[in-house]
Amino acid sequence: MANTQQRAVILSVLQEAGRPLTREEVLRLGRARLPRLGSATVNRAIREMTDAFQIIGVQFPGQPRRYELPAEAEHPHLICRVCNKVFDLPVAMQLPVIDPPKGFVVTGGEVVYSGTCPNCA
Ligand SMILES: [Zn+2]
Repeated sequence: MANTQQRAVILSVLQEAGRPLTREEVLRLGRARLPRLGSATVNRAIREMTDAFQIIGVQFPGQPRRYELPAEAEHPHLICRVCNKVFDLPVAMQLPVIDPPKGFVVTGGEVVYSGTCPNCA
């Protein structure tokens, strides 16, 4: 396991952001708190924390993988079409039950809204 301090920094960065962050964003914001935080360390910590379900990976088509803290319920996301940031919409929701085409193995589902964030509007 990556050391406790590094993992604590990653958790607090995600907590404070309140939205899913890319690896690069985690590294940049993490270094603001712990300047010696290394890229390889962050990668390893993210992998271990994802495996341990301390953080959750989210990925939308055409977007880099992002990470967020586990939420109590499935929730929609918002993507800004200008800056590409992803925001949580804190609304509990259930994905619709679907009947996928024969042979299609469904491994995930997401509800994503897109638009312009307050910073970019
Ligand atoms: Zn934006």
